[in-house]
Amino acid sequence: MKSRIALIAHDKKKDDMITLAAEYIDFLRGCNLIATGTTGGRLSNELGLTVERKHSGPFGGDLQIGSDLVDGKIDAVIFLRDPMTPQPHEPDINALVRACDVHNVACATNLSSAHLVLSQLQLKARKS
Ligand code: PGA
Repeated sequence: MKSRIALIAHDKKKDDMITLAAEYIDFLRGCNLIATGTTGGRLSNELGLTVERKHSGPFGGDLQIGSDLVDGKIDAVIFLRDPMTPQPHEPDINALVRACDVHNVACATNLSSAHLVLSQLQLKARKS
């Protein structure tokens, strides 16, 4: 079964997300991808990935992704957060990360953990 991966990046982390996704592009092409609005737009425009785009994060996109996650539709979340900039939707961010913990869904919130999660999922996909 295809991995279902959520991709979210705060503004100052969006370039990192594009670079990261480019590194795993072959694997990601074979996944079901879901993203917040602006992140998804960039992944689609710059890398040609097919992405289900939710609303932008500050307008509820994190919560929409959280809802799908609670419904069992997401296997992993790559959430490149910006710890240095206050976010207007901090409660939504916390809600999504909490939902990952409640439902035991892998949640990578920085590049190092994102590499670990994506490389592991990629390995699993190659074996199956
Ligand atoms: P965005 O949302 O991809 O629409 O910018 C991300 C966020 O800020 O949570």
